[in-house]
Amino acid sequence: MTKVSEIFDCQQCGYCCQGETTVSLDEDDQKRMIQHLGMEREEVARKYWRQNGNTIQMKIVDGHCIFYDNGCTIHAGKPWRCTQWPLHPSILDDQDNFEIIKKSCPGINRELGYDDFCKKFTALLKLENK
Ligand code: SF4
Ligand code: SF4
Repeated sequence: MTKVSEIFDCQQCGYCCQGETTVSLDEDDQKRMIQHLGMEREEVARKYWRQNGNTIQMKIVDGHCIFYDNGCTIHAGKPWRCTQWPLHPSILDDQDNFEIIKKSCPGINRELGYDDFCKKFTALLKLENK
């Protein structure tokens, strides 16, 4: 049976949690985070969120997501986009996307070519949906 570790093994480099913006939080993300932190919505918003146009994102502190401290400190409460990274299904449709993600994320198995990566990733997605 294919295992995630065959295609991806997080190196905890923190790259995906750094930068001047973070992923945006949809309604479910916001609820999950509030529940996980056990705080009132207003308090979570004041401490951890920032409004960017119409979207809510996590605050950036010292060039990284406010929840980053040598790894994600809100693992069970993090947004779904963070949960998906770097194994985003769009990789299967677009080799360029795969190459971009591979450049950004040292956790992607460098030994695998695109086709082999996709075969294993597809097998994992099928297992997930069983
Ligand atoms: S960029 Fe990849 S290896 Fe680095 S922390 Fe993010 S998921 Fe892990
Ligand atoms: S919530 Fe966690 S995984 Fe997502 S950007 Fe922040 S520190 Fe990184």
